[in-house]
Amino acid sequence: MENPYITPGRVRAALNALDLRPSRELGQNFLVDPGALQEIVSAAELSSDDTVVEIGPGLGVLTYELLRHAGQVIAIELDKRLAARLPGEFPWADNLTVVQGDVLRVNIGELVGEKSYKVVANLPYQITSAIIRHFLEVTPTPQVLVIMVQWEVAERIVAKPPNMSVLAHSVQYYAEPSIVARVPADSFVPAPKVDSAVLRLVRRPQPLVQVDDVDAFFRTIKAGFLQARKKLSNALPNGLAGMGITIEKDAALQVLAMAGVDPARRAETLTMEEWARVHVALRQRMRAGDNTAAEA
Ligand code: SAM
Repeated sequence: MENPYITPGRVRAALNALDLRPSRELGQNFLVDPGALQEIVSAAELSSDDTVVEIGPGLGVLTYELLRHAGQVIAIELDKRLAARLPGEFPWADNLTVVQGDVLRVNIGELVGEKSYKVVANLPYQITSAIIRHFLEVTPTPQVLVIMVQWEVAERIVAKPPNMSVLAHSVQYYAEPSIVARVPADSFVPAPKVDSAVLRLVRRPQPLVQVDDVDAFFRTIKAGFLQARKKLSNALPNGLAGMGITIEKDAALQVLAMAGVDPARRAETLTMEEWARVHVALRQRMRAGDNTAAEA
């Protein structure tokens, strides 16, 4: 069945009826491309057993497809006018719950209960990273996220060495990312400046590496990336110093040697496994005590 909500004319008419000028601050770029919509829906592999959390349903273009393919749909919309309008668009749907609020503040556990769930959304771009981080760390965590993000953000998330970033590590630690499709900018009203991507993040059963303290592990990675263009022999002690952790260059060289990482390499080239070894070696060196001002 054709999605009756998706033409640019329908979207503009709905915005006019609400007297709503799309807000850049809220990332209000409404999808008008049936092909992109199908990519999202098929990547989510929905069945009537699924509970879906949709972030930012907007005018309901994607919500319509989710209601048809999933069991339950929980749509969280910050914009009061859009949230208030949504239930009236789908009077036939008894599987829709609309929550007006900031997705980063609502209690997901209370909404989904014990059930496993999927996140499917065309994300507001301004807070993409915050939303991804939130749903990778929140309890309960979704089994999969299928999300529309800016193309360049998707590329950074799926990167491999030698093109890694803190963002890539922080996603890949928890999930396996893949780009499902490229979506041209003119697939939205209003059109953003850049293309988008449908990105699929599948939660790993276990994090990619085992570390005793995740926050400390990511502090080590962030320290290495603070001066990403420099060799690790300099970038690591400088980055740690920037975080208030003092380690002499000689000690940093010993840490890298213990981890089996060439000190001439740059942060972007390391695998997460290598960062885990650097982190363990750093903690051992810190515990040995001769150089420390604080624990890493
Ligand atoms: N799903 C619609 C579509 O595909 O056409 C709209 C997507 S639009 C890119 C992003 C939506 O997220 C907007 O409706 C916006 O109002 C909403 N939004 C922005 N910030 C939000 C937040 N913090 N929590 C929930 N929704 C938010």
